[in-house]
Amino acid sequence: MTVGRFAPSPSGPMHLGNLLCCLLAWLSARQKGGNVVLRIEDLDTARCPPRHAERLVDDLRWLVLDWDEGPLVGGPEEPYFQSQRTERYQAALERLEAMGLVYPCFCTRAELHAASAPHREDGLTVYSGACRGLSPEQRAERARLRSPALRLRVPEETWRFVDGHMGPYAQRLDRDCGDFLLRRSDGLFAYQLAVVVDDAAMGVTEVVRGADLLSSTPRQLYLYHLLGLTPPAFYHFPLLLAPDGRRLSKRDADAGLDQLRGRVTAEELLGRLAQLAGFHPSGAPRRAEELLEEFAWDRVPREDIRLPEVLFPA
Ligand code: GLU
Repeated sequence: MTVGRFAPSPSGPMHLGNLLCCLLAWLSARQKGGNVVLRIEDLDTARCPPRHAERLVDDLRWLVLDWDEGPLVGGPEEPYFQSQRTERYQAALERLEAMGLVYPCFCTRAELHAASAPHREDGLTVYSGACRGLSPEQRAERARLRSPALRLRVPEETWRFVDGHMGPYAQRLDRDCGDFLLRRSDGLFAYQLAVVVDDAAMGVTEVVRGADLLSSTPRQLYLYHLLGLTPPAFYHFPLLLAPDGRRLSKRDADAGLDQLRGRVTAEELLGRLAQLAGFHPSGAPRRAEELLEEFAWDRVPREDIRLPEVLFPA
């Protein structure tokens, strides 16, 4: 049975990019007769106050993008808020520690910036490995001054997978990614660890998300492998860009749902979004369920999608 999911990080009001993610995840799973899980990725509680999650849940209900497990409906893997699931991430971290693959990293932000390989186009920085070889004495000494982050040691290996939408993708873990964070120095578990633990625990069989996370996937596959978990299929879709080509952010008020909800109906919004995403040429208003007939991954473009200046002419 197919299980898809939405895994938003509610650090502000939803924007069209988040909405496209929910729509595509919903269509892809429902078209296969599958279930949908809603999981709130609010690990960074300072940036994700509960009001944003409440608003997001309300927006999804307004859009009639429903879910079978998650906030409001419950389910076998409760709670569906990452901020309440930290003991699961701790258990996974301890398993990785027992394999001898985790080490403390004392680098400050400035040191990381200075020592990392040149920033790659996709914004990924590669950790230099500065703290990898510290002796137990050096670690003890530094731990007196600063609480460390924890990193996973990666092998000199290339990890490959075939994305359901973007096709084959490969990454040399040590060169293209480097030893990556499992827990930050302030104690927050890293997204990479939490997402793997949760998708596996919730029986997710397909992950649909923006292409900005394509480069995270080999790291996640490596974690699935180490933890002995079965990975889902992945579908990465192109990003929505602001009309001037910038990446859409929560600051783009025009593309925010809080603005749009007062101006258009849910059906108008879904119809327009499906048109921009390539599978509903007329752009006419549609309920999500009606879009099931037209949706196909091969109709969705692979290049980023630039939003028009005016989404809904007056
Ligand atoms: N919570 C992440 C975000 O909103 C998405 C994680 C994922 O889909 O794997 O960007």
